[in-house]
Amino acid sequence: MLRTCTLYRLSLPLRLPMRTAHGDIRDKQAILVQLKDDEGIEGWAECVALAEPTYTEECADSAWTVLVHHLLPRMARWLRAVGEDVDPRNACEAFRDVRGNRMSVAALEMAIWDWQAARKGQPLIELLGGGRDRVDVGVTLGMSESLDALIQSVETAVEQGFRRVKLKIEPGHDLAPLQAIRHRYPDLAIAADANGSYRAEHAHILQQLDVYNLEFIEQPLAEDDWFDLAELQATLRTPICLDESIRSVSELRLAARLGAARTLNVKPGRLGGFAATLQILAAAHEAGIATWVGGMYETGVGRLHGLMAASLPSMNHETDLGPSSRYFERDLLKEPIVFAEPGVIQVPRCCGVADWVDREAVRRFSTAIWSADLRTL
Ligand SMILES: [Mg+2]
Repeated sequence: MLRTCTLYRLSLPLRLPMRTAHGDIRDKQAILVQLKDDEGIEGWAECVALAEPTYTEECADSAWTVLVHHLLPRMARWLRAVGEDVDPRNACEAFRDVRGNRMSVAALEMAIWDWQAARKGQPLIELLGGGRDRVDVGVTLGMSESLDALIQSVETAVEQGFRRVKLKIEPGHDLAPLQAIRHRYPDLAIAADANGSYRAEHAHILQQLDVYNLEFIEQPLAEDDWFDLAELQATLRTPICLDESIRSVSELRLAARLGAARTLNVKPGRLGGFAATLQILAAAHEAGIATWVGGMYETGVGRLHGLMAASLPSMNHETDLGPSSRYFERDLLKEPIVFAEPGVIQVPRCCGVADWVDREAVRRFSTAIWSADLRTL
């Protein structure tokens, strides 16, 4: 029986600040979940909510409150009701009456999967249905001060072996940088991510990006701008990839029916967990929508889980989840995530990630620690 849940609120310095359409990110604000059962077997997962509610409505502060006051009491009640019969595929039932808050839900759901893998002594990736041993990795680049600085960053990424460069774009910072990269690297896989920063009247700019032969343009318009997304996709040769727009199977079907996208950025930590991810992947496959796994600047704990999702056989593109050194001087793992060969990460076939976690580092970077007994919560 699961006995305790501990939450760690962490602030982990990023190696380089990341400039996005929503501003600079300098420290990774993270929440880790640690479950422990009667026998001391653990399950870990990460809540991927960012410091500010700018990517979705969730943020690290709201996630902490929701986890402590609303989700963990529900999970404790569900665990008592199912007894020994814990099936992670049904864990979302514990949160059935909760609206939204999918990043917070995902952290608990994925920790249950992680614990189940450890308890069964079965690699987590096998529990998820089995995946590839290795995944190809791309890099995300923020907006640079100058085109020279941008080309320098691309050059470094290409030298390190990254298989795709995804550039953050926004109105006024799009055509020139993408043209500069394409001119310098005629054959490089390039993509762009706008984080919803354009509006329908910018369609003529986005149409001009077609000549750069991008793998996709990610979330060009606001997440709920369905009709404009569909009209834009109809005028573009480049696939639109949806990220923030897709939170459920219903929204995936809506996108497919409207023709609002041809690609989906899958993030288990945003979609409500592994079970929700597997359902959305099945729906995407049925609708002919390509899929790949994007990153949330996760610490190593969340990145290991993301890499497992990225290794699922139905994925069509490189993942954004890179080696630890790309993000942090010091990750929260005993051994950092590294390239097995340039641009390729070997996906660990571990029975949950507990053995990877450096508890000393977790405590050192924690700004708050909260623990509860799940038998009485
Ligand atoms: Mg994105």
